[in-house]
This record gives sequence, structure tokens and C-alpha cells, in this order.
Amino acid sequence: MLIKELIEERVYGAIRSSAILELGGRADDMGDHLLGITALNLLARLIKKAERVLEVEDASLHHGLLVQYLQETIGIARQGDDLIDRIARTTLIAAKNSKQPINRSIKNKIRDRRAEVPCYLCGTMCTHKSSDTTSGIKYEHIWPASYGGESIFENLLPACHYCNESKDDMLLWHTGAIFSAVLKPDPSEEEIKSIGRREKIARRIQEIVLKASATGCSLREAALALGPANFAPTNIKAINTADAVDFFNFTFDSEEQT
Ligand SMILES: [Zn+2]
Repeated sequence: MLIKELIEERVYGAIRSSAILELGGRADDMGDHLLGITALNLLARLIKKAERVLEVEDASLHHGLLVQYLQETIGIARQGDDLIDRIARTTLIAAKNSKQPINRSIKNKIRDRRAEVPCYLCGTMCTHKSSDTTSGIKYEHIWPASYGGESIFENLLPACHYCNESKDDMLLWHTGAIFSAVLKPDPSEEEIKSIGRREKIARRIQEIVLKASATGCSLREAALALGPANFAPTNIKAINTADAVDFFNFTFDSEEQT
């Protein structure tokens, strides 16, 4: 949120109306992508820097060292507000908390005493206490732990082994190899099969992010409100049937959930 504040509304407007995005009919999607990868790169570097700063023995120096990094390397030179202080403080807290393991009571709360829970991304049922690693519940950080995501109830959802493994350290949808497949308009089911799970997950996460920002709720609440998507090739549809099918031009048919 602080990084969003840093990037400011006027930058959003300027990017979306830039000449390079006028062509292609994707100004919103491509603008979001550009802003997203910029913000995520910034966040990733901040967290790594904070982890290094935390190694300095004298804790009273931590805040100042990060503020200096923000001013000199990142180039934030805003005066007259406390934004730099707030970013430094929040990043240090995130870097400290992000590597905490998930405790059992949080896992139980997420499972809500059920023996089986659906994967929040694809709907596959996952079993509590399964000795089979592929059918057991994975507790997934919605915001990845390596980027400051905490092991708290609000940042965790149950996922299946395959989604958890495919998502890996994908940061939201922006880093999900989203330009790897482009299919002909009106693709056959066989062609649709070439859309990988990682792209489907990235697409679903994008839908979750859009819902969260449209309604002002958390990513977790948005994911639960949307429910899992059916990842089967027969359930994937083009949005604009006249156009080639790429990352921005497919969605999951939600018939089965209604
Ligand atoms: Zn899944």
C-alpha cells in the first residue's frame, strides 16, 4: 500500500495514457503490468536490503540505514511527509516477520475442523493429515513469505500440492510467465491444453487482485468471494473470441459454481 502511495495516482494516469500503450487496446492491462513489475521489483529489493540491514548488530542503526538506502539508491527525496519513515519501519517489520513458521492453531483455523478443504485456486479437494504428499493440504501465503508475507491467518489459504508447487514464489500475476503462450483465435481444446497451470494461477490471481481493489477488501477475502476456478481446458473461454488468446484474453467459465 505504501509503495502504491509512492507511485501516486498521477503516475497511473500518465502510464495508461502513454503513446506506446495507445496501440493494442490493452492500455489498462499493460499499464497495470508495467506498474506492477516496477512496484514488485522495488519491494523485493527493499526486503532484501532490510534483511541485510537487520544483520547489523546495533539495532538503533537499522532505521537510519534503510532511510539512507531509500533516499540515495531508490531515489525517494520527498520532503515534508513521513512516507520514507513509514516505508522503512514497515519494511523492517516485514523482513523480521516473514520467515516465521505457520503454527498449528492457525492451520486448524484455516481448515475450520474439516477433514477436506478445496484448493482456493483450482478447487481440488485436499486432505488433512494425508501421508500422501500430493493430496495433503498446503498452507499457502497469499502474499509470498519471501516478499514480506506474514504467516498469519489473514495471509494464508489452503492450496493443493500442484498449485502450491506451480505458484512457487510467483508474486501476484505479474511474474507468472504470462507472455509464454499465444493461441489462434477460437482455439481447439487441444490448443487450450498448452496453457500451463502457472498461467492459469496467474490469471486467477489477477482476477482476485482486481476484485480486491474494486471492492476494497483483502486478497484473502477476494479469493474466498470468487471461489476456486475450474482449471479444466473445457472450462476456459476467450473473452474476445475474434482476438488471439493470450494471457489477457481468457477467463474461467463459472457456470459450475452458480
Ligand atoms: Zn489447486
